[in-house]
Amino acid sequence: MKIFKYFSFALLFVCASTFAQEEIKPERKPGHTNQNKFKQLYDEFATPNMFRTGSGAPGPAYYQQQADYKMDIEIDDENARLFGNETITYTNNSPDELKYLWVQLDQNMRAEDSKTPLISNDRPQEATYASSFTNKYLKQALDRGFNIEHVKDVNGKDLPHMINRTMMRVELPKPMKTGDKFSFKIKWNYNINNHVTEGGRSGYEYFEENDNRIYVMAQFYPRMAVYNDVEGWQNSQFWGRDEFALPFGDFDVNITVPADHILDGTGYLVNREEVFTKDMMKRFKQAQKSYDKPVMIVTQDEAEQTEKTKSKDKKTWKLSAQMVRDFGFATSRKFIWDMMAVKIGDKDVMAVSLYSKEGNPLWEQWSTRAVASTLKSYSRMTFDYPYHKAISVHAPMGMEYPMICYNFGRPDKDGNYSDRTKYGMISVIIHEVGHNFFPMIVNSDERQWTWMDEGLNTFVQYVAEQDFAEWNPTALSPNDKQYPSRRGPAKNIVRYMGGEQDFIAPIMTKGLNTYQFGNNAYGKPATGLNILRETIMGRDLFDYAFREYSNRWMFKHPTPEDFFRTMEDASAVDLDWFWRGWFYTTDYTDIGIKEVKKYQVTSNPTAAVKKQLEAQGRSIDDLPPLVFFVEEGSEDYEAGMSSGNVSENVKTVKEYVMDNFTPEERKQLKSPNYFYNVTFNKPGGLVMPLIVEYTYADGTKEKVTYPAQVWRLNDAEVSKSIASEKEIVSIVVDPDLETADVDTTNNSWPKEVKDSEFDKFKNSVKD
Ligand SMILES: [Zn+2]
Repeated sequence: MKIFKYFSFALLFVCASTFAQEEIKPERKPGHTNQNKFKQLYDEFATPNMFRTGSGAPGPAYYQQQADYKMDIEIDDENARLFGNETITYTNNSPDELKYLWVQLDQNMRAEDSKTPLISNDRPQEATYASSFTNKYLKQALDRGFNIEHVKDVNGKDLPHMINRTMMRVELPKPMKTGDKFSFKIKWNYNINNHVTEGGRSGYEYFEENDNRIYVMAQFYPRMAVYNDVEGWQNSQFWGRDEFALPFGDFDVNITVPADHILDGTGYLVNREEVFTKDMMKRFKQAQKSYDKPVMIVTQDEAEQTEKTKSKDKKTWKLSAQMVRDFGFATSRKFIWDMMAVKIGDKDVMAVSLYSKEGNPLWEQWSTRAVASTLKSYSRMTFDYPYHKAISVHAPMGMEYPMICYNFGRPDKDGNYSDRTKYGMISVIIHEVGHNFFPMIVNSDERQWTWMDEGLNTFVQYVAEQDFAEWNPTALSPNDKQYPSRRGPAKNIVRYMGGEQDFIAPIMTKGLNTYQFGNNAYGKPATGLNILRETIMGRDLFDYAFREYSNRWMFKHPTPEDFFRTMEDASAVDLDWFWRGWFYTTDYTDIGIKEVKKYQVTSNPTAAVKKQLEAQGRSIDDLPPLVFFVEEGSEDYEAGMSSGNVSENVKTVKEYVMDNFTPEERKQLKSPNYFYNVTFNKPGGLVMPLIVEYTYADGTKEKVTYPAQVWRLNDAEVSKSIASEKEIVSIVVDPDLETADVDTTNNSWPKEVKDSEFDKFKNSVKD
């Protein structure tokens, strides 16, 4: 095999061939920072320590605080007012001494003096709903903020406290040391908002017929802020769009509502025998054994009867939950209620739905089935769902809490609905139930990192949607072969990533401050994970690492580094380049084919080589045997250096080099007839694997994936020499649209004359 040494030696020596491995120097662009895209993320990442290790796992000194709540809540249905009295027991597991505690008063975002309206950028809309117009321009701003009646210690002594908008600082009588517990009481009330006309993730919807409300309650009580090793107190204000950061704890909550209400929420219903009728108890026991379809606990007929009258009596529902980060509940006399059992590991979990007649016929058909299916899919991708139930409540929004979530999807008055409404409803249920895993159990900081819950959740949602359609084929419309997932496939994010850079922010931006929130915090991270799974890592490596992350951080508080590091730690795939490009920048993928050159090989030296040797005062005879590549259409080629007969030339060259091989070695040799040099360029800033499909004259195709590292020495272009037995007739980059390439007009050779999706989009925007 000596010959190959000669090849490389000789060719480098005379510099006559484009087939040598050479570096093409990238053009210097103005503002070019010369930051290698494969540089490890040491500058961006926090230094590993005893709390969080370099592997992405919790460290030996990892700790988290605990906040336990005992609450008595009462809803005054007539006046839509909520009264609460809570005792918080806070445990300091940190190594630090705490002088004060921070309590979140999210409802103050709706207070009269809220600053939230002041930071919005708005102008009159051409058309606006009369109700929105009334609220914005005609009505006095309603005070929905917390009225804090008192903050006391357990002996009834007032505790000094200060309210800074949505955060309340409570002074401790003496500093809390490691391991100390401190209990204190807060009494409050507030006017519940109509979340349909005033907005919000919590509140009531009003139904004029029979004068009824459906309450979906959340952020309704003063909640402990998170204290941890990365933020100290996470007391960044709540502005409305950004979500929450909460410690785990145990909850005992008694909720008093009108006696004819149906209520469910986070936790075990402790006094079921007290609040259920005999019929409901009987049906509940049936539901616990029904694995294939939901069992009605309260039927539509019964709910329609109940909503016609109003009970003057009250009833208290007692809920108890362990290891949850939050608490939500829904209550109304309009509720229909169904449940079914679902096997998760060796445990039975109840999939539950609460909805009014307005949600039917859609809700009775799909809600509880979607809940059950979601629990199965997510448990497979992460860990077995650890809670005993998951509830989906019909409300005109999508929002999640531990064990309970609020979901939209409503047919018209006659019960008709479009495919869009049906799929929208199934998707939002899968999404919000999925949030039980991220961030309710894998408890990331939503206030700071929206993508850690929304992005990861939207990614698993995509997997779960495909599962749902497979397990419930009748849910698909006749025209759909698979579930029409909105987010996940790479091609669906192209519009966003190729859009106006002024309106795109890196994923690693606080949720409050991003443009195009949905694409930034949901779509792009979810798509990134899907690309890792399907294209860069493969399902086995990805799924193992993703499960490892989920299990390491189950019932704990992970940071972005913990995710990034674990994905590499568990897979042996260096992904720093991917995190850097996809999460820290707004670069997009655009990879194309710059040029394709065809060559013939010959043993006759080309004119250029002869000239070069002459200049050096040397003769061809001084050198070891050489093979020359002559580009088709070049001067040498035209001048008749080449016979033009490819197979003739190749045969001569082969004979010419054969001397160097033993007869055994000769038998192993390949017989390439066609030689190409393909130059791929990368107008886009993102690094991605170079996926190329070669089509041969006989119609066969070959797909080659050059790893992303192919770009490591030159970010602008890269050359590949190809020797082939068959003639190549076409080359396509990213043929299956796996990399979110924003411009596919440069992806084909010979160039295909057709509008790319990107151009179509650009043109449509101009219209
Ligand atoms: Zn979400």
